[in-house]
Amino acid sequence: MNSEIFDCLVIGGGAAGLTAAVYLGRYRRRSVLIDDGGSRVVRIPKTRNVLGFPDGIAGPELLERMRVHAGRYGTVLEMGRVEGLRRHEDGGFEAVAGSRTVRARRVLLATGARDVEPDIPGLAPALQAGVVRYCPVCDGYETQGQRVAVLGRAKHGVRESVFVAGFDNEVTWLAMESRQHVAAAELARLQAAGVRIEDRAPREIRCGTSKVMVELADGESLEFDVLYPALGLVHACGLATGMGAQCRADGQLEVSDHYETTVPGLYAAGDVAVDLNQINVAAGQAAIAATAIHNSL
Ligand SMILES: Cc1cc2nc3c(=O)[nH]c(=O)nc-3n(C[C@H](O)[C@H](O)[C@H](O)COP(=O)(O)OP(=O)(O)OC[C@H]3O[C@@H](n4cnc5c(N)ncnc54)[C@H](O)[C@@H]3O)c2cc1C
Repeated sequence: MNSEIFDCLVIGGGAAGLTAAVYLGRYRRRSVLIDDGGSRVVRIPKTRNVLGFPDGIAGPELLERMRVHAGRYGTVLEMGRVEGLRRHEDGGFEAVAGSRTVRARRVLLATGARDVEPDIPGLAPALQAGVVRYCPVCDGYETQGQRVAVLGRAKHGVRESVFVAGFDNEVTWLAMESRQHVAAAELARLQAAGVRIEDRAPREIRCGTSKVMVELADGESLEFDVLYPALGLVHACGLATGMGAQCRADGQLEVSDHYETTVPGLYAAGDVAVDLNQINVAAGQAAIAATAIHNSL
């Protein structure tokens, strides 16, 4: 890459990064966005809670529209993976992406997170069919009145089971032998929500495009309409923590009201930063971060 010093380097081109690209471009900042193409938005069969799309929109189409929009105002959009980030002696940043180095006065980390996936045959088509779902905040509404299994240990599993039961579902928590680690008060919450607990470890889970079959260790089979894996998220915060940024126990980065991390000049927005993992939230955080970056330059 040439020796140009960008006003801002945006790392990650999902909902947060692309929103920042629009804002920075419209502030006439010289910015570059580098993305390796793994946005969680691509995995959404149809989202129904993004404003402006009352009939819903498929994730890949939404992402493509965001990319077109982000490309309108001059932010350079590049494919690639940023592997290293460090402070340059001029006080700015230097990033390494493949054989290139990119210099920028500010950096916005919008690298998102990735779902921890269970090892289940038929997972991808089941996700498309809505039989496997990852985000009850996003699509719990679509599950009403169904037989739903939540696969997750201890507090993850409990929290998601109670939430999903709130949509009048018949919920079974597949606790994978973690029940003993759950406090009595939490078990009482499950009971009050009508959640059945199945603590025996699943031997095999098979997904079709209309049903999920769970075979337990002793051979008994259970059938569900929907499965929510609740195995957690891995937040892509390594570039920031490598520079000393602080993150929470769950891996989300600590940020200020303006989405600056604890490393001056390094901002974070979207799933990698604290708060609810949602497109609207990622976009809102990125708008605030991009404006703060603009004002700081
Ligand atoms: C199945 C499913 C359904 C969902 N449904 C909804 C819904 O209906 N409504 C809703 O609001 N939300 C939904 N979500 C959540 C939503 O997708 C995320 O909250 C949103 O994508 C977060 O945006 P982001 O920009 O933070 O991360 P992402 O959109 O995931 O983008 C991060 C980008 O950064 C890239 N990246 C990471 N590290 C690097 C690196 N080192 N160098 C270059 N690029 C890098 C990633 O590959 C990716 O492209 C759903 C998620 C899933 C998995």
